Amino acid sequence: MARLGNWIEPFPEGIFVKPADAWVDPSKAVEKALVTHGHADHARGGHGAVWATPETLAIMDVRYGQQSANPVAYGETIRVGEVEVSFVPAGHVLGSAQIILDYRGERVVVSGDYKRRPDPTCAPFVVTPCDIFITEATFGLPVFRHPDTGAEIDRLLHRLAHEPGRCVLVGAYALGKAQRVIAELRARGHDDPIYYHGAMERLCTLYEQLGVPLGELRPVAGAKKEELVGRIIICPPSALNDRWSRRLPDPVTAMASGWMRVRQRARQKNVELPLVISDHCDWDELTQTIREVSPKEVWITHGREDALMHWCMLHQIKSRELHLVGYEEDEEE
Ligand SMILES: [Zn+2]
Ligand SMILES: [Zn+2]
Repeated sequence: MARLGNWIEPFPEGIFVKPADAWVDPSKAVEKALVTHGHADHARGGHGAVWATPETLAIMDVRYGQQSANPVAYGETIRVGEVEVSFVPAGHVLGSAQIILDYRGERVVVSGDYKRRPDPTCAPFVVTPCDIFITEATFGLPVFRHPDTGAEIDRLLHRLAHEPGRCVLVGAYALGKAQRVIAELRARGHDDPIYYHGAMERLCTLYEQLGVPLGELRPVAGAKKEELVGRIIICPPSALNDRWSRRLPDPVTAMASGWMRVRQRARQKNVELPLVISDHCDWDELTQTIREVSPKEVWITHGREDALMHWCMLHQIKSRELHLVGYEEDEEE
C-alpha cells in the first residue's frame, strides 16, 4: 500500500499538492495557489491564480492589488486538477480557512493558522476529521496557556479608567488582532470613539465593509492632544515606541499578543501593560484539537514542533515536522 499522503509534498516554500498541480500557502509566486488566510507569511502576491475565501481575496486585494481570483465560500467544494478542495473556517482572522483536500479516499486538512476561542470578527473553527492533519504549533509548549480574553480586555479598561490624565496605546497587528481588540472592547460595553494609527485604516474599513461592526473609529492624525486624553488608541506594534507616539498624551503602552505571556518580550518592547490575546491556539487547545480531529498522522508546521511531536508519540499518533520557510513567528502575534 502506498504511503499515506504520498500525493502531498512539503517543500520549504510551501505544500505542493501533486494531483492538483497547486500549492498551499506558497512563499514564492506560483501558477496555482490555495491560500488559507491573508497574513503575509501565508498569502503572497504575484500568483498566476489564487483560490481562497472571498474575504481572504479582499484582504489580498488591499495588500497586493487585484488578484487573479477564484473565490471559494466556506462549505463549497470545487475541483482543482484531480483533487476535491473545500474551505472551512479556521477561527484565526476574518476569512481564514482550513483547506480540505480529498483524493482517492484520503483526506488531508491543512489548517493554516487557527484558534478555538470565540472571536467576534470571524467564524469559529470547524472540526473536520481527516487522515492527515497539518497543524501549526506557534504556541506548542505546555507553558503556553492563554488567559480568558474578556479578563484581558477588562484589565485594559480598568487601566484606562484609573489613569484619567493619560491615554492607552495598544500595539496590535493590523490584520486581525487590531479589529478583534476593537470588537472585544465593544462587546465589553466600551462605546467611546477608538482612535487608530493611519496604518490600520484600510483593513478596519474593509472589515466593516465585510460586515464586522467596529463602532466609532477616528484617525489620530488631525486629533488635538487634549482630545486623546482618556482614549484608547490602536497602532501597529512597530509604532509603539517610535516618534509617532510622542504626540500622544502620556500613553500607557500596551500590546495585545500571545507572546505577552513571555515577560521578557514585554520588557524588550517597553510594554507597560501586556495583554495576552492570541489568534493562535495555546497548548491545551492544540492538543484538544488533535484529539477531536483524530487524524492518523499529524504534520507540524511553524512553531515549536518538538513538544507537540512528543505529545503525539505519547498518544500513539504518527507525526512529522515540515520544514517550511518564510513563516515569521512574530507576523500576526
Ligand atoms: Zn496567521
Ligand atoms: Zn502563520
